[in-house]
Amino acid sequence: MKLHFDDITARPSYFTVKENSWHAEGDGCSFSGTANITASKLDGERVSLKGRFDGVLTAPCSRCGKKVSRKAENSFAYLVTTKPETIPELPEIECSDDDVNTLYLDTPVIDIAEIVQEQLYLEVPLQILCDGNCKGICPGCGADLNSETCTCVKDNSNSPFAVLGNLKKKTN
Ligand SMILES: [Zn+2]
Ligand SMILES: [Zn+2]
Repeated sequence: MKLHFDDITARPSYFTVKENSWHAEGDGCSFSGTANITASKLDGERVSLKGRFDGVLTAPCSRCGKKVSRKAENSFAYLVTTKPETIPELPEIECSDDDVNTLYLDTPVIDIAEIVQEQLYLEVPLQILCDGNCKGICPGCGADLNSETCTCVKDNSNSPFAVLGNLKKKTN
């Protein structure tokens, strides 16, 4: 969804973006949900964009790979401008708009999907677990240790340590 500066007025306009599978960064992560966005024009070159995302994040468990779904919600605010980026002078530093991101555009067209996507990336946790006690996958035999028993210890005839075991038996 693209929004042209000419379509935005000083009076806030509201719109909703719904999506069933937004793909976020990371292996197999996806979102489904709704983004509610408010846009208003500050002047010819600046637009204020505020939004909120509500949805569900589905991602594989970091340990066992099982798909995990969890609620994802986030509020965001952007100042979108076509003015070239400038380094603010020291007296201009304000702490009031702490969470406002500034988005610099070459053309006065806002790509809403891109903004929502960027916000979703921030929602992907570094580690997602199906359960805090997830035992994960055995790196040796690939067994899901939550439901299967590891076979590495029992079947170690191909392991280089099996040879050592035989040697030990002979010397005894
Ligand atoms: Zn898991
Ligand atoms: Zn194993």
